[in-house]
Amino acid sequence: MSTGTATDAVVEFRAVSKTYPGGVTAVRDVSLRVRRGELVAIVGPSGSGKSSMLNLMGSLDRPSAGHVLVDGHDVAELTDREVSALRATRIGFVFQQFHLAVGVPVLDSVADGLLYAGVPLRRRRARAAAALTRVGLGHRVHHLPHQLSGGERQRVAVARAVVGGPAVLLADEPTGNLDSASGAAVLSLLRELHASGTTVVVITHDREIAAALPRRIEMRDGRVVADHSTEPAIGAHG
Ligand code: ADP
Ligand code: MG
Repeated sequence: MSTGTATDAVVEFRAVSKTYPGGVTAVRDVSLRVRRGELVAIVGPSGSGKSSMLNLMGSLDRPSAGHVLVDGHDVAELTDREVSALRATRIGFVFQQFHLAVGVPVLDSVADGLLYAGVPLRRRRARAAAALTRVGLGHRVHHLPHQLSGGERQRVAVARAVVGGPAVLLADEPTGNLDSASGAAVLSLLRELHASGTTVVVITHDREIAAALPRRIEMRDGRVVADHSTEPAIGAHG
């Protein structure tokens, strides 16, 4: 794989559209850049194409038209195998619903996030413990999933997503299944990760959550209808 961009964009869309088999166009001619170190909210009503955008950003899906660049790599120019490697090593995902394996201690669930990176077991466990400490669960590493609250389980999901040091963390409605206190804790965790340098893109339909984030991309019917920043773009050149 070669790096092919002169920008500091972690994710770049160039005139991207996505039409699903069956004919629904979920993303329409979207161009955008997410720069290293940004914290971005994608907001919009249900069905506006937010998850489709995130799946494209995460190379879980390929565009019908246009180009998606992840960490400088044009996804269209990579083989399936290279896309899998890119995804495993450069992207962390957090979804609304996170299913931890029943009966598996959280340390191992998080350590499994490093399987594809070819890290030996002892180092996987050590890095998993560090990631769990980072999300405030250093005292829960030997707990089983059923011994954790929903908010704690979602923090395990975040630990698993960041354990490999991804270029970008993509979160699709990570607070959608949580009560407001646990949701707020997960959100402040994403802010802490951002503050320590992680690039984060988070989908939310919660306007209050979105309003507190430094950049908000608003979607309607597959299009970006607004892109507001309340902080100067990090790394922007003039
Ligand atoms: P959001 O996350 O904003 O709710 P989605 O990206 O999930 O929006 O969906 C956007 C549109 O694309 C919707 O009309 C949805 O029904 C459609 N869609 C999403 N995924 C698929 C799919 N795999 N196959 C066909 N249509 C889909
Ligand atoms: Mg969605």
